[in-house]
Amino acid sequence: MAATRVEEKLYQNRYLVDAGRPHIKINAHTKPSDNLLAMTKLCPAGCYAENSAGQVEITADGCLECGTCRILCESSGDIVWNYPRGGYGVLFKFG
Ligand code: SF4
Repeated sequence: MAATRVEEKLYQNRYLVDAGRPHIKINAHTKPSDNLLAMTKLCPAGCYAENSAGQVEITADGCLECGTCRILCESSGDIVWNYPRGGYGVLFKFG
C-alpha cells in the first residue's frame, strides 16, 4: 500500500472562516524581518506569502494553529496572534 502524503492528510481537515476577523494579523512594515520572511517557507499551511512589493502578507484561512509563527514573530512585534473565536478555525480529522 502506498504511503499517504501529508498534503492528502491535510486535505481531510475542515476550516470554518470567521469572515472579517482574521485571528492572525501582520503589523505594517516596509521591509519584513528575517523571521517574518522565513514564515513564507515555514508555515505548514502556506498562509504567508511575499507580495510584489516585498512585504509579507497572511491569509489565515487554513491555519493549523501550530504556533510556529507565534513563536517566531509575536515577541518581535511582527504579528498579533490569537486563537480563532470558539467554533471557528481548523477542525482536525484524525485517522
Ligand atoms: S500558526 Fe502555524 S499554520 Fe497557522 S499561520 Fe502560523 S505557522 Fe501557519
